[in-house]
Amino acid sequence: MVVSGVLLVISAPSGAGKLTLLNEIRARKEDRFVTTVSATTRQPRKGEEHGVDYYFVDREAFIARRDRGEFVEWAEVHGNLYGTLNAELDRCLETGKDVILELDVQGMKNLCKLREDVVSVFLMPPSLEELERRLRNRGTDDDDVIALRLKNARNEIGDRHAFDYIVVNDKIEKAASDLEAIIRAERCRADRQP
Ligand code: 5GP
Repeated sequence: MVVSGVLLVISAPSGAGKLTLLNEIRARKEDRFVTTVSATTRQPRKGEEHGVDYYFVDREAFIARRDRGEFVEWAEVHGNLYGTLNAELDRCLETGKDVILELDVQGMKNLCKLREDVVSVFLMPPSLEELERRLRNRGTDDDDVIALRLKNARNEIGDRHAFDYIVVNDKIEKAASDLEAIIRAERCRADRQP
């Protein structure tokens, strides 16, 4: 029996440090996991690449693909559409590696309704003050976008108990070790073993 990888969803308010955490895990685990590339109607930020960070599509194309049933899950976040394509998830699962999806809370809930094997992790910022400081330091968003992201962050944090695990990102090394421990423990679950 082939033991497949762990299917893990990670959600975090923007600015909680999800990208930094994934880069840290990537450095530690090398190529033992893959992340799905989502489609979005959001404009690319500076340095973001089509097919690497996201598949950037216009709203019309996104809606047409959604209506054809091409998304395993999708959601409207901060006024933009985001979704995971069935083909993208299948491609990642076929590698046999751990698969990480970065979804918002709605996306996590929708995927959990479809699949029983999802492990969900909420990445908590140390505080809302620190979250605001990180969003401002990032310098990529206007004040009204930051205000919207902070409002959404409060709602997302209020939903944290819908997840299997909560990891607090005060120190990136500790958060990465916690996430690695979760993946390791999940791999050892009796129901995953031959
Ligand atoms: P950002 O615009 O900062 O890259 O992402 C905004 C939010 O959209 C984040 O909470 C991120 O996790 C979420 N997101 C990114 N891709 C997807 C997706 O495919 N599906 C869902 N449901 N949320 C996504």
